[in-house]
Amino acid sequence: VDFKVTVLGSGAALPTQKRNATAQFVECVGRSILIDCAEGTQYRLRELGIKIQKIQHILISHLHGDHYFGLVGLISTMHLLGRDKGLTIYGPTLLEKIIKLQLEAGGNQLAFDITFIPIDGNSNKLIFEDAKIEIHTFPLKHRIPTNGYLIKEKKKELHLNPEALQKDQIPKAYFNLLKRGVDPVLDSGQKINHKKYTLPASPARSYAFCSDTKKNLDLIPMLSNVDLLYHEATFKEQHKDRAKATYHSTAKQAAEIAKAAEVKKLLLGHFSARYPNEETHLKEAKSIFEEVLIAEDSQTYMI
Ligand SMILES: [Zn+2]
Repeated sequence: VDFKVTVLGSGAALPTQKRNATAQFVECVGRSILIDCAEGTQYRLRELGIKIQKIQHILISHLHGDHYFGLVGLISTMHLLGRDKGLTIYGPTLLEKIIKLQLEAGGNQLAFDITFIPIDGNSNKLIFEDAKIEIHTFPLKHRIPTNGYLIKEKKKELHLNPEALQKDQIPKAYFNLLKRGVDPVLDSGQKINHKKYTLPASPARSYAFCSDTKKNLDLIPMLSNVDLLYHEATFKEQHKDRAKATYHSTAKQAAEIAKAAEVKKLLLGHFSARYPNEETHLKEAKSIFEEVLIAEDSQTYMI
């Protein structure tokens, strides 16, 4: 089952012809999650044929406009299209007030419930889990409280070994126990070893989102071994001082984090509009960490 990230906006601050500001649509084993919601997000979703009503969770990193100015517009469209199922929004405490005030000012009464979970970028926390996935938040280092997010699959069940099961005529009734690693006792009184009838589980996949932040080594335990890390790379090395002053990262610094956390793949984004292209970002990151990609709007990245 799919686990994939579609980049809806990969630019910083100013939208350009090539890049909208930050938003991503994540599909994780049937769960639909939006991360950040800059202006233009709903247009990009429509353009890509992504059904907005299937979004169940919206994770907002922080309250700089290039990360959430599209949110009330999106909520309003959900309402106009007749949404009745609830929506959960995670983000800085103030965001709840902002949404309410904007809706109230227009005399809008939503036909669906919004559950708001305040997150203020000060500690690592599990914020959602169900049978298949977990969502964690962790603090980033930016000018205002900022949340990073980690979406991961739960440990998966073992695969059955059909040949071994058939050979020993193990009844189907025991398959679920075997998949969970239990050694069941058969009707005959015989206890069987699950290892004989199963194969290793597929690895649980994970995705981490880090925007906006200055280089922060404290993130490494949280990011350790993730399959895909999205990390902001607002600046090139040439503007390292600017990165420091504005609490952003360079592409090279993002690569240093990816390397230290031993992630499988690094996706760079949140590029400053001052650069005509990102060739230097890529080169500087590659000098540190080989498995790196430049995020492009409307592209989907499989995990
Ligand atoms: Zn910011």
